[in-house]
Amino acid sequence: MTELYQPETLAIRAGSVRSQFGEHSEAMFLTSSFVFESAAQAAARFIGEEPGNIYARFTNPTVSMFEDRLAAMEGAEQCVATASGMSAILACVMGLLQAGDHIVASQSLFGSTVNLFNNVIKKFGVDTSFVSASNVAEWQAAVRPNTKLFFLETPSNPLTEISDIAAISAIAKGCGALLAVDNCFCTPILQRPLALGADIVIHSATKYLDGQGRVLGGAVLGNRANMAGVYGFLRTAGPTMSAFNAWVFLKGMETLKIRMDAHSASALALAGWLEAQPSVARVFYPGLASHPQHELAMRQQTSGGGIVAFEVKGGKAAAWRVIDETKMLSITANLGDSRTTICHSASTTHARISPEARAAAGISDGLIRIGVGLEALVDIQNDLARGLNY
Ligand SMILES: *Cc1c(COP(=O)(O)O)cnc(C)c1O
Repeated sequence: MTELYQPETLAIRAGSVRSQFGEHSEAMFLTSSFVFESAAQAAARFIGEEPGNIYARFTNPTVSMFEDRLAAMEGAEQCVATASGMSAILACVMGLLQAGDHIVASQSLFGSTVNLFNNVIKKFGVDTSFVSASNVAEWQAAVRPNTKLFFLETPSNPLTEISDIAAISAIAKGCGALLAVDNCFCTPILQRPLALGADIVIHSATKYLDGQGRVLGGAVLGNRANMAGVYGFLRTAGPTMSAFNAWVFLKGMETLKIRMDAHSASALALAGWLEAQPSVARVFYPGLASHPQHELAMRQQTSGGGIVAFEVKGGKAAAWRVIDETKMLSITANLGDSRTTICHSASTTHARISPEARAAAGISDGLIRIGVGLEALVDIQNDLARGLNY
């Protein structure tokens, strides 16, 4: 199916399997276990001689439909669904690495991913070196004989820095490491990392795949050999996606293409409008010609995506005023929702790092991040204009 249909068609049709009842919408199988016809069938299922469901920690038809749909969209051989985006990253590392291995990771990662690498994985003997998301030479320089995994997000949060997936993949291949890309901000509608050379794709389905802020979920995708390790960890350790959440994602994905197109179109228009505001010092958005990596972004992505960051003149006080003067926008660090979200990165998502480290990362006190939603653009602009024109 992958080769024959467009992404928006795959988002609606791929992976769907009908039960004996002929339902049109995918069925939700809320059952913890499955029964067998005989002792011999149970035995054949357990040792993998006969395909089929066993127990919902590692097999469920609704979860399988979600996995097959996302795999088709990313062009992956296999997808392993997980309980959250963070458990997808944990399953990736636990399934593929062992004590003594080394990770090279972008320093512009989701905060909990940095914590996972620094404070959890490290305890089990896997060290991580952090390098610039956009400086390819730093990736090469950080390689050690025991480097097994490269890990990045592009565009990065909140400054929308772009990593060159093809160039970094070439370095990973040169040293025998796997490249994992967290594709949460783009989804396969805007960017397909495997086609650009990545080995593994990670998702927080919690964001755009659901798109309406309802449930948590994640996924790891790649070839069958790599996914065998990830699936083995999931089967044993159990950070499993629930059937209910898989069903919510299946419904959410049906509108993914039109939502991503609308998020991107509004974000581009909002970014342009922000650039024209006298109280705005700088706008970060990959779809803008002023973005330092605009050309690379447009080679990797079909559009700029829904995340816009901007710096207001006047530091923290001015940034907080813009946020507090809004009446409609949701003040939250979440993103990928039909509702537009706004947050002050320095005092929320990046509050636990030192002011010096924040400055080095380019996250100033005047920086605001917006997850552009699906409301009318003019209403989003009016809500921001109050604080910007204060
Ligand atoms: C939210 C997020 C995660 C973590 O996902 P959860 O579903 O909240 O566990 C990982 N990576 C990125 C880029 C995210 O935005």
